[in-house]
Amino acid sequence: MTDITIALSKGRIFDDTAPLLKVAGIESLDDPEKSRKLILETNRANVRLVIVRASDVPTYVQYGAADIGIAGKDVLLEHGGAELYQPLDLNIARCRMMVAVPEGFDYESAVFQGARLRVATKYLQTAREHFADKGMHVDLIKLYGSMELAPLVGLADAIVDLVSTGNTLKANKLKAVEEIMPISSRLIINQAALKLKREAIQPILKAFSAAVEK
Ligand code: AMP
Repeated sequence: MTDITIALSKGRIFDDTAPLLKVAGIESLDDPEKSRKLILETNRANVRLVIVRASDVPTYVQYGAADIGIAGKDVLLEHGGAELYQPLDLNIARCRMMVAVPEGFDYESAVFQGARLRVATKYLQTAREHFADKGMHVDLIKLYGSMELAPLVGLADAIVDLVSTGNTLKANKLKAVEEIMPISSRLIINQAALKLKREAIQPILKAFSAAVEK
């Protein structure tokens, strides 16, 4: 039997993917929130899950260390998506990539006046493209987390971050001023694996497609 490795991150993506995996007849034998194991066996002897950081999922799949992965569009845009087959939007872990500023900041006027803004973000590629499309000159500051803090302590004028409920922005007296794009997670497949392990991968892909269409 062909072995299949599926890479995904714990938290939101694992929680939303588990029901889809179940439809494909795959169930994890461990809960990644409780176990410290990075390789989780499933009820199917030939299928295992590897738990990696969300931003590392495309890399594992690109190099074939995992055959299949589940990754947010935000992560795929930063990675570039090279050598990845992206057949399916799973419509899970949905949120929006937004520009946000402090509540009292007049973003419209700053843009209109051509102010050169400092923007803190984890999503450099996406932010660069967005502001270039608007013809805005910005200084991008790369952060790895808690972007919301940057405008509060004078590190940046604005942030580019994912917004789901908006509660984090509100709790930090920030407001969203621009939507860059809607985000959801996608299935990604290693191109060589798709050819060499077609018989094992196709049924999983089919089950995911059917589950998503429901
Ligand atoms: P919220 O307070 O619900 O708007 O969530 C915002 C926080 O959760 C921010 O720190 C985001 O980076 C993070 N976040 C929201 N949605 C997602 C998602 N789908 N994937 C990863 N991070 C997210």
